[in-house]
Amino acid sequence: MTERFDFVVIGAGVSGEAAASYARARGATVALIERDLFGGTCAFWGCMPSKTLLHAAEVRAHGGEYPWERASARRDYMIVREGRDYPDDSGHVRDYKVAGIVPVRGTAKLAGPGKVVVRTDGQPRELEAKDIVIAVGSLGKVPKLEGLAEAGFWTNKEGTSLRELPKSIAILGAGPSGTELAQVYARFDVRTTVVSPRLVNPTDHPRSSALLAKTLRADGVDVRENARAERVRPRAGRGAEHVVELADGSTVEAAVIELNVGRTAAPALSSLGLDAVGIAYDGGDFLEVDETLRAADHVYAVGDCIGHEISTHLGHYEGEIAVKVALGDKIRADFTATPRAVYTDPETAGVGLLLDQAKERGIDAYEETADLATSAKGYVSESEGHVSIVIDRKNKVLVGAFIGGPAASEAIHEAVLAIKLRTPISLLAQTIHAFPTVTRVMGGLFAKADLALR
Ligand SMILES: Cc1cc2nc3c(=O)[nH]c(=O)nc-3n(C[C@H](O)[C@H](O)[C@H](O)COP(=O)(O)OP(=O)(O)OC[C@H]3O[C@@H](n4cnc5c(N)ncnc54)[C@H](O)[C@@H]3O)c2cc1C
Repeated sequence: MTERFDFVVIGAGVSGEAAASYARARGATVALIERDLFGGTCAFWGCMPSKTLLHAAEVRAHGGEYPWERASARRDYMIVREGRDYPDDSGHVRDYKVAGIVPVRGTAKLAGPGKVVVRTDGQPRELEAKDIVIAVGSLGKVPKLEGLAEAGFWTNKEGTSLRELPKSIAILGAGPSGTELAQVYARFDVRTTVVSPRLVNPTDHPRSSALLAKTLRADGVDVRENARAERVRPRAGRGAEHVVELADGSTVEAAVIELNVGRTAAPALSSLGLDAVGIAYDGGDFLEVDETLRAADHVYAVGDCIGHEISTHLGHYEGEIAVKVALGDKIRADFTATPRAVYTDPETAGVGLLLDQAKERGIDAYEETADLATSAKGYVSESEGHVSIVIDRKNKVLVGAFIGGPAASEAIHEAVLAIKLRTPISLLAQTIHAFPTVTRVMGGLFAKADLALR
């Protein structure tokens, strides 16, 4: 029997959940299909466990009592895995049912325009929908590295759900989650090495990258920048640790290798039957969509699987935008003011364009920067870092902002709003910022820019 809905959403991570919840809130009928855990990466193997562990590590680093057993138990509580091996997603399912969303447990495959077949533990189910939202997420990439498969490796799944700390760990790649987990491990006394082919979190502002590298080193992490792993010699080191050979001839020895070298949606996309709805998928890491997040007629794709940026807040935004477009709202996705953050202690955060990126887009841009250490906030909180803003000289508006320092992930939102609303610098300069805060340091830069632009 065919079940009919207004929307069928494939994948119940944050992006699919946002699409389903928003569609339901607008009165649509919705089926939400998930083959693993309803709730997806953020809830179980990403944001929530990593931020919980970071909190414990921070308390500990500042002299508090937070043994690993307590941190691990608290993380298990957050991912609903207390006293069991695998998380329990029944809370998510309960919430959908209360909202009137129909959860379908199984693996979805597109079977034609508006048609989805779900392979379940029992009979396959046939669903039909006016609109389909693809939200199949991403997985960590596995590099082609001789010896890696034999040595074995952790991905974010093992890296966030570990109950026993390893003696030592080598993290390949220094994006946000690798950087965050490196701080966790090191602060719980694991001998930790980070190997990054460029800087630490290389897409961040260079001052923020430098702050992250300095922070990790202060925590005892062996940070190898501009270093590329070339080969793994399984169990060839002291104490049968794996030896990772780097391009510069140096080596890293570690009991565990964790991968953090980028994300891909290819495994999920290639088995989705995209050709059945007329999508010519080329096998790449991510699915292409237009500015309304449309991948084909009545088919939208959102979240990690379109690879705009890998973040919960962006996936959530895209999930809602796709539904709005499908329901006929005259709207398109606007990515100009997407915040990014690394939740280490101290944090880094950014929004909009770096100076070089602004110039590449033909914007007559310049940068104002302030050293946080010599600001009132820096002095009283004994913190280092920076606040930098990128200004469009001609239009006298903010196009980028970057912070390294305490509560950066919160403070960045003033800039998020300023960029989104294209608030004139003169107005930002007239805004009163509380003393002493990181945001007030940004306010000082607005005032400086306002003077320079007169
Ligand atoms: C360690 C780590 C820490 C992170 N921390 C943060 C953070 O602090 N803040 C932040 O903003 N972002 C963070 N992220 C990123 C964030 O977790 C992801 O961007 C977000 O979870 C992606 O959501 P999604 O819904 O697009 O994909 P997912 O959550 O991956 O969901 C996709 C779902 O689709 C299902 N699926 C796939 N194919 C099918 C199919 N054929 N049929 C049925 N189901 C299918 C999968 O099982 C999966 O559950 C972190 C990521 C990691 C790895």
